[in-house]
Amino acid sequence: MSTVNAYGAHGAGDPVVPLTIERRELGPKDVLIEIRFCGICHSDIHFTRGEWGEVPYPAVPGHEIAGVVADVGAEVSSFTGGDRVGVGCMVNSCGECENCLKGEEQYCIQGNTQTYGSVDRDGTVTKGGYSTHVVVDEDFVLRIPDGLELDVAAPLLCAGLTTYSPLRPWGAGPGKEVAVVGFGGLGHMAVKLAKAMGAHVTVLSQSLSKREDGLRLGADEYHATSERETFKTLARRFDLIVNTVSAPLPIGRFLGLLKTDGALVNVGAPPEPLSVPVFALMGQRRTFAGSMIGGIRETQEMLDFCAEHGILPETELISADQINEAYERVLSSDVRYRFVIDAATLA
Ligand code: NAP
Ligand code: ZN
Repeated sequence: MSTVNAYGAHGAGDPVVPLTIERRELGPKDVLIEIRFCGICHSDIHFTRGEWGEVPYPAVPGHEIAGVVADVGAEVSSFTGGDRVGVGCMVNSCGECENCLKGEEQYCIQGNTQTYGSVDRDGTVTKGGYSTHVVVDEDFVLRIPDGLELDVAAPLLCAGLTTYSPLRPWGAGPGKEVAVVGFGGLGHMAVKLAKAMGAHVTVLSQSLSKREDGLRLGADEYHATSERETFKTLARRFDLIVNTVSAPLPIGRFLGLLKTDGALVNVGAPPEPLSVPVFALMGQRRTFAGSMIGGIRETQEMLDFCAEHGILPETELISADQINEAYERVLSSDVRYRFVIDAATLA
């Protein structure tokens, strides 16, 4: 075991503070990663504050990790020292169930091991990327393509993947009308990705305050959900709506914006249940669905897609002592559009 610097919370009402944590010795299939950057996902806030349920404190969040391989175990075949790598929301899964065998480890029937707050296969509680180093099984380590700098690659590991994953199966592409609800970390990536796939993209934000950014970053239209007219003007317009909002929404109003057979896919993860009026679904054979991150193979595909199409998140680099301030800005929708921690400030 080795002791490394990290940032985490000691309790639900506590700020994120410097602390030290243990990382396991390298097993034969393990990769030791020197973390260079870690994105701040709204999930980190839900988690450290105990909003999703009981948390094994201290809670060290961070699942948008980009860094460099420092060492590898004896049986590691895919990576070597100096490789540029990433780790997303998962660090393990059973590897044997039908979903793992399909490459959909996020839906592992025994439950995947999340990068933070999960009990790992060795019984320890996982700790995330607000840290200088992490040890991860090589099967859950991603290769960062040459064209991507590590600081902008980091947010792709969650925000990029979570929005990429539903766009493909629900058919985002030429001739399709896609709406993205919430223009934050996930939302701005959803806009860029859906646009790159060829869809006509509309942002549905609480206000028009980020409209210029939205249009510059690829949206064809940008509307405010605070204006009632929006729901009239856009009625039955969309084939697909991706909801990235971190708080409960009046889902029925958004279902009314879908065409016949359209789908509203929820990726936002508010702790409170959402209320779905069934007549808004039945009346036009609409679908209300959910999607969680993506598989490992799909993560590599997404990274390569972003490198090929030059799809980069908009980031604001911060030092570790600015994390609490960044959380407050995320909570007040004042993120432009992903905070990324410079791990050098944790050393
Ligand atoms: P974020 O950067 O805070 O973006 C969320 C956006 O939602 C905000 O920028 C804001 O956009 C809108 N919003 C916030 N509060 C709202 C409210 N009360 N009413 C209406 N709109 C509101 O967060 P994020 O990192 O993108 O994460 C978004 C959600 O996805 C979180 O719940 C997170 O836990 C979840 N998540 C899920 C997965 C998954 O696998 N499904 C993966 C990662 C994250 P506007 O200012 O444009 O209105
Ligand atoms: Zn995340």
